[in-house]
Amino acid sequence: MKTKEKIDVEEALGVIWTSIQRGNDNFDKVLSVIKEGVNENIMDELIKDNYVIKEGLKIRLTEKGGYLGKELTRRHRLTERLLADVLEFNREEIEKIACDLEHNISTDLADSICTLLGHPKECPHGAPIPEGECCKKSEDKIESIVVPLSHLDIAEEVKLSYIVTTNHDYLHKLLSLGMVPGAKLILHQKFPTYIVKVNETQIAIDSEVANLIYVRK
Ligand SMILES: [Zn+2]
Ligand SMILES: [Zn+2]
Ligand SMILES: [Zn+2]
Repeated sequence: MKTKEKIDVEEALGVIWTSIQRGNDNFDKVLSVIKEGVNENIMDELIKDNYVIKEGLKIRLTEKGGYLGKELTRRHRLTERLLADVLEFNREEIEKIACDLEHNISTDLADSICTLLGHPKECPHGAPIPEGECCKKSEDKIESIVVPLSHLDIAEEVKLSYIVTTNHDYLHKLLSLGMVPGAKLILHQKFPTYIVKVNETQIAIDSEVANLIYVRK
């Protein structure tokens, strides 16, 4: 097991790496997130141990800081996919468990999970999963057991795994129609729109959305 200090360092580097990726590299803004989310003094430690550099108003990660931040983010998002795809946990549970597990997974284990899942590109929230060594040399691509609806053949019967969406109104509409995790779906038509049957109800789905609905074969 890692010490609390080590976990805090990883947690903070994960937050900083993600912030910079999203275009927020303002030192003070990132600092306040870290203070609240991790601990009061962690930034001083990160600077002292040469993980982080303050450059004017900007925050920068050193090579080793960037490496650890990216690795942690990769482990976090892969764990989320594992929990959602294979173990079928719900979203609230996923966040908590992923945040614990991410600190206890080796790079080798992360690569094994990644390979098992077919080198997924995104976590269940739609955030990109940084590539690992396994993804770069994955000529032996296996098909993931969880695929977007758009990859199915007509008449295939599947179970809904999760829906990637940032549009909550649309998500709620789908949920109200019975498109909930675990629901059995049959694909009836792919063109001009997708038509799926869920509990005796036929639902039309446009092709853009069909890429966001992940199902388990
Ligand atoms: Zn964590
Ligand atoms: Zn996520
Ligand atoms: Zn991979």
